[in-house]
Amino acid sequence: MLSRAKTLLGESRVDELTRMNICLIGMGALGCAYADQLIRLGVKNFIIVDQDIVESSNLGRQTLYTHGDIHQLKVFAARDRLLSIAPDTQITCYPEHVTVDSLNDILQAHPIDLIIDGTDNFHTRFVINQLSLKYQIPWLYSACIGRKGTVIPFFNNDRCLHCLFDYVPNTEDTCSTVGIIPPTVQFVVSIGVQLIIDNDHSDNMYYIDRLNLTKLPIPNRREDCVSCHDGNFSYMEQSTDHIIKRCGDNIFELSHTKMIQSIERHQVGDIWITLFPNGRVMCHGARSGDEATRALSSIKSKE
Ligand SMILES: [Zn+2]
Repeated sequence: MLSRAKTLLGESRVDELTRMNICLIGMGALGCAYADQLIRLGVKNFIIVDQDIVESSNLGRQTLYTHGDIHQLKVFAARDRLLSIAPDTQITCYPEHVTVDSLNDILQAHPIDLIIDGTDNFHTRFVINQLSLKYQIPWLYSACIGRKGTVIPFFNNDRCLHCLFDYVPNTEDTCSTVGIIPPTVQFVVSIGVQLIIDNDHSDNMYYIDRLNLTKLPIPNRREDCVSCHDGNFSYMEQSTDHIIKRCGDNIFELSHTKMIQSIERHQVGDIWITLFPNGRVMCHGARSGDEATRALSSIKSKE
């Protein structure tokens, strides 16, 4: 499978890619596209993290999934698809909400060479940023909204996302409100994968707007950056225990206190509730946070 890549990149670089341990956080549009390109380049070790399940509305851009995967957990559907491409690949699945604790455990449990951000919210990116500084793991920021995208490689750990943004930007736009189309996703991911292939430490970031690509130097470390200069990892101490509207159609995230050993799925009318052992709840199909809360309560009241 790798003969063409070896012709272009050389055998030793392809061998290095093969040995990389890559942690993909978020298996939505970006995570799918990264995994698909990287496995075809010979990457053999993936740790994939996502708590979500596949919905029909995902199929327009999340390229690892098919109609038969609907209602399956994304990490397991992605694993099956990736193994059908390259059966000798090691894929460790974490069907978990991305929290400070879950990511901390994952990063401690595996030797990871690169974290790829495939998430859809800035708060999680700030957590990834601080964990990457704590463990000195390079990471790749990727974002896509509408027909615009951004790729920022933090490969050197000598500056960070917090140097660029003082605080989590307050943006109302999500992929469910603005939309997102496959060419933009693939454009963003293709730049990210090129940076990985070339092990590019030149500290440039990339902005995409339709067919326009702008390359700019990543600003130097800010001397007052609380994360990479002061080592004050404040985003690793913040609780996220409240109802969160996730990027997607009618998806809400809540929490529960039930003691369970494995993932449980419940249907309440048109609403699907998934309970995770770590206390996280994903609610698909509710039209509001209140409706999600009521559906979760109705499960509890039956027990
Ligand atoms: Zn910084």
